[in-house]
Amino acid sequence: MGNILIVAEIQKGKIREATLEMAAIAQKLAGPLGKEVKSVVLGKDIGAAAEELSKKGGGEVFAADHELLANYNVDAFTQATRTAIEAAGADLILVSNTPSGWDFAPRLAAGLDAGFVSDCFNIEEEGGKPVFVRRVFNGKLDARLLPQTDVVVATVQPGATAAFEGATDGKVTNLDAGIDAAAVRAKFIETKVAESKGVDLTKADIIVSGGRGVGAPEKFTETIQPLADALGGAMGASRPVVDAGWLPHEYQVGSSGQVVTPKLYIACGISGAIQHLVGMKASNFIVAINKDGDAPIFEVADVGVVGDLFEVVPALTKAISEAKGG
Ligand SMILES: Cc1cc2nc3c(=O)[nH]c(=O)nc-3n(C[C@H](O)[C@H](O)[C@H](O)COP(=O)(O)OP(=O)(O)OC[C@H]3O[C@@H](n4cnc5c(N)ncnc54)[C@H](O)[C@@H]3O)c2cc1C
Repeated sequence: MGNILIVAEIQKGKIREATLEMAAIAQKLAGPLGKEVKSVVLGKDIGAAAEELSKKGGGEVFAADHELLANYNVDAFTQATRTAIEAAGADLILVSNTPSGWDFAPRLAAGLDAGFVSDCFNIEEEGGKPVFVRRVFNGKLDARLLPQTDVVVATVQPGATAAFEGATDGKVTNLDAGIDAAAVRAKFIETKVAESKGVDLTKADIIVSGGRGVGAPEKFTETIQPLADALGGAMGASRPVVDAGWLPHEYQVGSSGQVVTPKLYIACGISGAIQHLVGMKASNFIVAINKDGDAPIFEVADVGVVGDLFEVVPALTKAISEAKGG
């Protein structure tokens, strides 16, 4: 029986929270599955990050330090991870469900002839085997998957579980990544940071967000923005709103948008899919307005209003304006 290998991600020299969340899952599974937790850190000058992970639940951490790993590169990352899988004797490989994970994890699985489970939010032990839990149908159902292959690669949704807490005394082992430069076909050119057009939701104390339930772009101006203005807050949105072109991407809250932690978050006509929740569930106080009493957003709400947002939101805006003497 093989071990668990966590493929770490680093950002500005530090281990990303999503990696520590996988460490929490791996540590919980290791005993019941009879496996050891191991990790690999890929990059250039990554000694400090590897040390950090070894103390935060990463077990034995393989540090693959290589020029070709300095920036994300699908060919180099896939090759180095294959080397780490062999060194770790791993048969369960955990990768973050992030843009780089989406890119290289399926390729890794295909190359290993392994089972592949994408976007799971938890992994549980059942009968000595790992069962992968995914949300389906917009969070209405949980699917529990038991792959039939000996080796499994899984991507894990960031923010779906708490990060590993506590201290461990794993060790760091330098790993010759064994990269064949001739087989690295992708070439890194530059990193472009998207230009923000003035909305920085991460700094807002109050956010009023609208989802698909708002129905049309002009309804944001007529219904959601006035409540945000009355509260002195900012307006946010779920992804379908941005995908439909109703609001620009900087308004998007969630796993592929901004992660926000305001004092007050009001979700209007948002169902509460996991990808939205990971972007706002750490808010101090959450109010959800939704006409479907079973919407998953109510699971994270401090106050839930089951009703039509076009009745509730204007009434709230009016009451706040009146209370402020407006
Ligand atoms: C890789 C990936 C990344 C993603 N990243 C993000 C992300 O960053 N952010 C994000 O938000 N999503 C993201 N998603 C999409 C996510 O899975 C959901 O599809 C999305 O969050 C749903 O948005 P919603 O709640 O606005 O729409 P829906 O799920 O369609 O929900 C609309 C809600 O409005 C309610 N409603 C309708 N009319 C009214 C009314 N008049 N009054 C009150 N309530 C009403 C309905 O009951 C329903 O609950 C991502 C998905 C994937 C696969």
